[in-house]
Amino acid sequence: MKIFLKKNEERRLLSGHLWIFSNEILRTEDFTENGSVSELFTSNGKFLGKGFYNKDSLIAYRHLTNSNIEIDKKFFAERIRFSYTLREKLLSHNSAFRVVNSESDFLPGLIIDKYSDAYSVQIFSLGMQNYIEIIKEILVEEYSANQVVEKNDFEYRTLEGLSRKTSILFGNEEETKVKIKIDAIEYFVDILKGQKTGFYLDQNENRFNLRKYISSGDSVLDLFCNDGGFSLNAAIAGAKEITAVDSSEIALKNLEDNFKLNKLYSYSVINADVFDFLKSKSESRYDVVVLDPPSLTKSKKNILNALQGYFELNKNSMELIKNGGYLFTYSCSHHIAEKDFIEVLRKSARKASKNIRIIGFSNCSNDHPLNPSMPETKYLKGVILKIN
Ligand code: SAH
Repeated sequence: MKIFLKKNEERRLLSGHLWIFSNEILRTEDFTENGSVSELFTSNGKFLGKGFYNKDSLIAYRHLTNSNIEIDKKFFAERIRFSYTLREKLLSHNSAFRVVNSESDFLPGLIIDKYSDAYSVQIFSLGMQNYIEIIKEILVEEYSANQVVEKNDFEYRTLEGLSRKTSILFGNEEETKVKIKIDAIEYFVDILKGQKTGFYLDQNENRFNLRKYISSGDSVLDLFCNDGGFSLNAAIAGAKEITAVDSSEIALKNLEDNFKLNKLYSYSVINADVFDFLKSKSESRYDVVVLDPPSLTKSKKNILNALQGYFELNKNSMELIKNGGYLFTYSCSHHIAEKDFIEVLRKSARKASKNIRIIGFSNCSNDHPLNPSMPETKYLKGVILKIN
């Protein structure tokens, strides 16, 4: 089929963005099936490339290529290989990494995470869903996957008219716990029941970076710890007393299993709401605090509430840090701009009567590349603060 854009609506695409919104389309020709591959043209008929069309989605078109090539198994195999090669070069010392990061790897709506020989796939678009079998075949044939799961139980899919489901596409149906190794630390990951695709891979580099700020014997508070990535890196670096807080009992159980797996024991867990936990504490007794909350807003409407939430969390965390200590603080809310997050940190410090110095900024790990033409691909913002 063919899509013709309204006059000048190709500009964003030509700047590198991969989406066309429904109101930018003038007309379509030869429509066959929703989700199918379509050719894209300017208003006066100049060919722009090919991509997925979904007439029921606000993001009506997702661009795949500027060329007039077949979108088939060979196309996907090449794109996946291109992405895999980058990770292999950067992260061959790890057994787990993000193989494909959707738009940033020019495969819009597709995420593939590798957990040793198991692969977890997430699909955000109707067009991409049609290729799930082919993607599974590629992972099995070319990457020797012994298990492939579809981890598609999230709200966003409904915008594309897709159902929410989690299933095993290939391999063992009984055992879904996989052992992975990242920067010399081992973890158990449940590729079917874990949060997200099983593990927060995006924080790997930041967890490793934490090590150089820890001195032997330090006390560390890991807020929103999930299955313990930051805590384990702190322990490896010599922290003596680690307190890990999360509201999920399952996450804390995983943390305990992961500590055991690495024969590390210098931790205690607290099952609590972090907002309440922070309100109940006042003594400045930690050398390092890690503050990694879930997204506090999924929409633009809630930005003010989210900023207030970040203010409360950061102010209360700063109060618990000893003079000379560090705060590793993150926001994974896509709608919160970095400059607004920094302003929240400034206000939090004033209120907590602390002097702060920003000594580092951070992003997602390098297996989560960004597409500079698509601000939508940036969500994680990290700031390292020295507290006085
Ligand atoms: N730091 C983690 C990832 C954090 S993800 C890591 O390195 O892997 C966010 C975590 O916050 C999840 O584990 C979730 O269970 C937990 N969570 C969400 N809301 C919470 C709340 N109000 N209080 C405590 N934990 C919460």
